[in-house]
Amino acid sequence: MQDLVVIGGGVWGVSAAKAAVDEGAGVLLLETRLGVGSEATAKAGGIVTDLLWNAEDQAWVEESRRLYAATSEWARDATMLQRLGMVTLADPRRHHLLKAQAAALQERGIPAELCTLNELAHEFPDLSVVAPDSLGLWLPGDWHVNPTQYCQIVADQARRQGVEIRTDHRVRRLRIEAGAVVLEGPGEPIRARRVLIAAGAWTRRLVATAGLDLPLRPYRVQLASLAIEPGHHFPMVWDLATDTYIVPDGPRAMLAGDGTRLWEHDPDTYDQNGDRDFLDGLAEHVPTLVAAGARAHVVSSWAGAVGATPDRRPLLGFLEERVAVACGDNGFGVMRGPAIGRLAGRMAMGAESVRPHLDPKRLPPSEFAIRPGFTLEA
Ligand SMILES: Cc1cc2nc3c(=O)[nH]c(=O)nc-3n(C[C@H](O)[C@H](O)[C@H](O)COP(=O)(O)OP(=O)(O)OC[C@H]3O[C@@H](n4cnc5c(N)ncnc54)[C@H](O)[C@@H]3O)c2cc1C
Repeated sequence: MQDLVVIGGGVWGVSAAKAAVDEGAGVLLLETRLGVGSEATAKAGGIVTDLLWNAEDQAWVEESRRLYAATSEWARDATMLQRLGMVTLADPRRHHLLKAQAAALQERGIPAELCTLNELAHEFPDLSVVAPDSLGLWLPGDWHVNPTQYCQIVADQARRQGVEIRTDHRVRRLRIEAGAVVLEGPGEPIRARRVLIAAGAWTRRLVATAGLDLPLRPYRVQLASLAIEPGHHFPMVWDLATDTYIVPDGPRAMLAGDGTRLWEHDPDTYDQNGDRDFLDGLAEHVPTLVAAGARAHVVSSWAGAVGATPDRRPLLGFLEERVAVACGDNGFGVMRGPAIGRLAGRMAMGAESVRPHLDPKRLPPSEFAIRPGFTLEA
């Protein structure tokens, strides 16, 4: 019998498996896809920012940064993270939001600078296309990470410590018996003392097979890769007015997103391509953010499934004595993933006390409005 089975090999599940083996547990990780970090984790923009409305999230970002950096150093792979910095732009109606954020960040000791458009364009001439009455908040410490690379490296570390990782293994059903949880899927049923379900947008569907429920609603987030001419230099940019963001991706490409679709989607059947209106929105907005946008063209676009919770906080802890969950990323789970996964793995092994405010049973599993998690407002 396994000590702990972690279901889901995204950034949360892989981080949890590593934390559990660090505690001396025998761990088996099961993942539907052919490799770890293949679903939402692979589709993410990879933004890691301090610009968050919740203090606990801010602390998780700080810890995740440490874990990303340590992983990159361990693998001697400097390509996993890029210290690009991020500018958040606000039109005059939203200047007050940026000013409040700047003051709060500075109070926390985070380098954060309010800049006029002139000042920004002086530093990054590509931003000279932005409306001149915009205000920018410059966070030089913000990063872009490659979360799939992180998952692959952490999986490698975990394997060396004894974690068994089975990919191409979709758990179809959970059965709770006296003294064990039985997992049905391909091959012989697997028996575990404890199970941690970190199956992202699929978590509610999976716990339902054991007669359990969660306040988690899957929704769809889109991103596109745009080819640009070389010779441009700009940071990550997030425009509050249009909710469009761009991320430089090497000298000839950028990622661009704004495509959150805030209604429930079936994680097994949602459309994984970018919508026409999403791409039309990018064609309109990206050229107003960077000069490189004027001649950019879309090379590919995609959508991934993420999970909303009623209060936009994660669901971490036990649903049953032997069944723990780690889900409810609310669309910004890469920047907090290493820390949340670690906490979940330690909680599942009893090395960390449960947190009542994250308890997966704290809210009824009823219908609720899906709201974006990555916003400035509480
Ligand atoms: C387009 C897009 C852009 C985004 N940009 C950002 C960003 O810039 N910054 C940020 O912080 N976040 C971003 N996110 C959100 C981020 O991707 C997620 O919050 C994060 O990846 C969640 O990680 P996870 O491990 O919980 O989920 P996932 O990565 O989805 O992992 C869950 C895993 O569970 C597996 N699984 C499911 N069911 C089963 C089963 N029955 N048996 C076995 N395995 C199973 C799945 O195959 C999957 O690999 C973005 C998301 C999208 C879609």
